[in-house]
Amino acid sequence: MSSPAAISFLVTGGAQVEREVFRGFSAAERAGFYALTVVTVALFFAGVYRLYRKYRGSGSSTADFIARIRLGPALATVASHATIRRRDGFVGMAHSLVFWGFVVLFLGTATIAIDEDFVQLLFGKGAKLLVGNVYLGFSFLMDLAGLAFIVGLLMLMLRRSLFRPEKLDYGRNDREDGASERESYRKGDAVFLWLLLVIAVSGFLLEAARIAATLEAAPFEVWSFVGYGLATALGGALASDGAFAGLWWFHVVAVFGFLAYLPRSKAVHILTDVAALATRDPAAAIVLPVLQEDRGIIRRAEDFTFRQRLAFDACTKCGRCHEACPARVTGAPLSPRDLILDLREKVNHGAGQLEFFGRTRPDVGSEQPLSGGYIASETLWSCTTCRACVEACPVGIEHVVDIVEMRRALVEEGSLPDSLQDALRSLDEKGNSFGESARKRGKWTKALDFEVPDATKEEVEYLWFVGDFASYNATAVTGTQQLARILHAAGVSFGLLYKAEKSAGNDVRRVGEEGLFEALATDNAEALEKARFKKILTTDPHSFNTLRNEYPRLGHNYEVVHYTELLLELIVRGALTLEAAGSRRVTYHDPCYLGRYNGIYDVPRQVIAASGAELVEMPRNRDNSFCCGAGGGRIWMPDPEGIKERPSENRIREAVELGVDLFVVACPKDMSMFSDAVKTTGNESKIRVVDLSELVLDAMSSAEQPQLKEAMHG
Ligand code: SF4
Ligand code: SF4
Repeated sequence: MSSPAAISFLVTGGAQVEREVFRGFSAAERAGFYALTVVTVALFFAGVYRLYRKYRGSGSSTADFIARIRLGPALATVASHATIRRRDGFVGMAHSLVFWGFVVLFLGTATIAIDEDFVQLLFGKGAKLLVGNVYLGFSFLMDLAGLAFIVGLLMLMLRRSLFRPEKLDYGRNDREDGASERESYRKGDAVFLWLLLVIAVSGFLLEAARIAATLEAAPFEVWSFVGYGLATALGGALASDGAFAGLWWFHVVAVFGFLAYLPRSKAVHILTDVAALATRDPAAAIVLPVLQEDRGIIRRAEDFTFRQRLAFDACTKCGRCHEACPARVTGAPLSPRDLILDLREKVNHGAGQLEFFGRTRPDVGSEQPLSGGYIASETLWSCTTCRACVEACPVGIEHVVDIVEMRRALVEEGSLPDSLQDALRSLDEKGNSFGESARKRGKWTKALDFEVPDATKEEVEYLWFVGDFASYNATAVTGTQQLARILHAAGVSFGLLYKAEKSAGNDVRRVGEEGLFEALATDNAEALEKARFKKILTTDPHSFNTLRNEYPRLGHNYEVVHYTELLLELIVRGALTLEAAGSRRVTYHDPCYLGRYNGIYDVPRQVIAASGAELVEMPRNRDNSFCCGAGGGRIWMPDPEGIKERPSENRIREAVELGVDLFVVACPKDMSMFSDAVKTTGNESKIRVVDLSELVLDAMSSAEQPQLKEAMHG
């Protein structure tokens, strides 16, 4: 086996194995280079400071930003590119090549600078890091990185030119009058990619020029395999000192120009993405920020926090949120991407910063209010708070929080759709959005052939927090009754709050009515205080979310389970015996507030499997599920003007394509929304919407519960 020294000798042929950085440069040229370095570094840090001033705004939220920093997870995400690779392997691969190529080249260049300028100072004349085998390995790695960098860039350029997906077309569905044009974005994208390509290619040409001059004397340069290949091919043209010096300065100016440009351009995302990921809140939108004195209503772009303003700059315009948004897909005047870019432009304008290639919103400087003016009310009210945008965003932007905070301003000034106003009034006066008497909340129990205990009078294991829809909506009540019968048959100890229950307030909070949410939460907490129970059981994923995740912030802590979880537990411990009820092909819709908000994806699928049904997944499933359109208070509002179809109709069309018999839901609002959508799309003969409880009921051992099945289907 050859020793490293032998390998070195064989490859180098005994020549001096190192690189001369300033070959043939005069002292004045070297001084010029160092002066340029100082100017570039100064410009870079001036740009970073300018960003800091922009994000700091009034200065109140810098501390919050620092408190949110979690560098470890952010670096892991950046290193693995997990959020970019997800759902788009091609871009993930291209971006990984560019990113890791850039990192290695940057570190390599820094190593060359240290070797050239500091090693001799520290360790004496003649000391060098990059010599011998170290230099050879270094050369190979740098060329590999450069090649990866170029391949990645070309992949991204190809995608943007030849295979440009719809999400990158920058079209916006809230403008028909040409009030916004996105030519500046296209130019910015192109300049960014071309600048990087020019840097990479000029770097290789410079390397080739350096090697070309000593091609025969330094055969070890073959380790710089790209530069060596180019030198061999173009040797004559590159071998002169003039060519070397020209390429040297061209490359340096391109690199320095990029560094100075970086904090002032699209390239800023190289910095802001890491910062946004490091301060990403995993509970973003799941737990909304409390309206406090130091985080008041957002009335101007300056009122956004440090982190929010920074996140606007982190947007890479990748369009993933735009593609996933049910409002955008169905033609409502909202795109989360456009919203973030509009806000970015507004913040930049407020900070007196120029857009490099011009502004896209001519009205960016007008005095109109932020909510309901610069960002139209219809845009803000179109959001279903489904969280698909937050889930899709590779850089941790929290669109839903921005939207809800702007909605709070609309609510404060009373700019609400009439129907929403009515629903909120009803919630305030009666504790439910149906305008029904609180006494009727338990009316659905009358159809049962057993009594459901009042948990304020009798101790139970599960306090069933039924929720408004599951209590009052005629379509959803069927599922509620089915579940009650199953629980009764399985011997579960459960009770209700009856008239003391009020809306949990999840959607009230998401329309921006913070005061009413707190009032509802206080009333519910008082009612729960009087009840005796071990756990809260919920039907509605929206109630589940706020009781489980938001009530604790108000000091009300409970163990909360969703009924799908309880059903599975009953099956697993044998309290429910299921047997296959015929061959049924079903699909399952992940409710946003159960799946994306609370990560419950497998449990309902396990219940479906236990029922013996064959599950056929829709193309958009799990964290990529497509919202029914009811969340975020949308259920209380009319359809946005000009929509092509409702999100629920879009979803039913997706399910019908599968040729399944049943569309299984685990949310009372879904039951109502999708049942309507089956009718409005004329698919009644093709598919039926059922609650998961019905599937379980049908599969329950008929020998064990004959009377139950009779009651259900009789
Ligand atoms: S939460 Fe849903 S509806 Fe709202 S902007 Fe995001 S993706 Fe669109
Ligand atoms: S907000 Fe996030 S997902 Fe949307 S375009 Fe920007 S980077 Fe992409």
